[in-house]
Amino acid sequence: MLKNVLRGRQPPPRRDVAEALATLDALAARQPELAQIAALQSALIRGAYAAPAPVGVIDLADEELRALLERGAPLLADTRLPIEEGLLRESLLRLIDAAREHGVEGLVTLASGLHARRVEATTLAHSLLHNGIDEKGHLIDTFDQLKAAPEPARNLLRVALLPFLEQISAALRPRRGELPWGRGYCPCCGAWPVLGEQRGLDQTRVLRCGLCADAWPVERVRCAFCGNRDHTSLGYLQVEEEAQKQRVATCDACGHYLKLRSTLAPLAAPALLAEEIALMHLDLIALDAGFTPPG
Ligand SMILES: [Zn+2]
Ligand SMILES: [Zn+2]
Repeated sequence: MLKNVLRGRQPPPRRDVAEALATLDALAARQPELAQIAALQSALIRGAYAAPAPVGVIDLADEELRALLERGAPLLADTRLPIEEGLLRESLLRLIDAAREHGVEGLVTLASGLHARRVEATTLAHSLLHNGIDEKGHLIDTFDQLKAAPEPARNLLRVALLPFLEQISAALRPRRGELPWGRGYCPCCGAWPVLGEQRGLDQTRVLRCGLCADAWPVERVRCAFCGNRDHTSLGYLQVEEEAQKQRVATCDACGHYLKLRSTLAPLAAPALLAEEIALMHLDLIALDAGFTPPG
């Protein structure tokens, strides 16, 4: 009874959440073949933002922050995430329920592990985030505990973390300030970008992280993944009628691609999740042409 009363009083979703859901609704209406996957993504966004996601303070001194960036290590590489286990667990369980309602399989072990407290959501989060850097400064994916986890579980964990990590990256971004970065992976959490924004009239290129929503500028005529600046081996793939709005940047030197989306203002974190579905056709075009995502 009380539960029903409380449910009835739930506040409307945040404006940026409502906008992301509207993007997905419009996409599903335009392209019925995407309706199912758009509905799943909408359910995950709703689940991730259904409860407050307060975070603590990141324990990182200024000198430490500078040293990490100088050696190409993401700021959260060795830091304990100030996220409460109970809150992340509840969020992840909400997303597992939502995904299972939409027919996603392979989540039973994770769900029962979380319920029985055999699996800690924050431990999973740490293994998702703690990428190492090798001696050449390249990113090494570790994903220790998650190596064995099925792909849907990783994806749900990533979505569950976004409301928490977007606040952490927002708190660290001004502290990063003008310190140079320019690498292809996220300076905050080390994940690869989900897309690049082409902002404003001068088309400044800003990469966006799909794990923590951080944003970092990169040069336009340079592959963010391998540093290639030879314009003859840097190209674009696009669908002609939407080329002004979105396309793919490709690099023949490393064979990787980056989806690009024109924006006037930075995309909000939930919008990044909506764009993943809206830009899926660009992934297919790039993969068809023999390019692969980084990582
Ligand atoms: Zn990130
Ligand atoms: Zn490249």
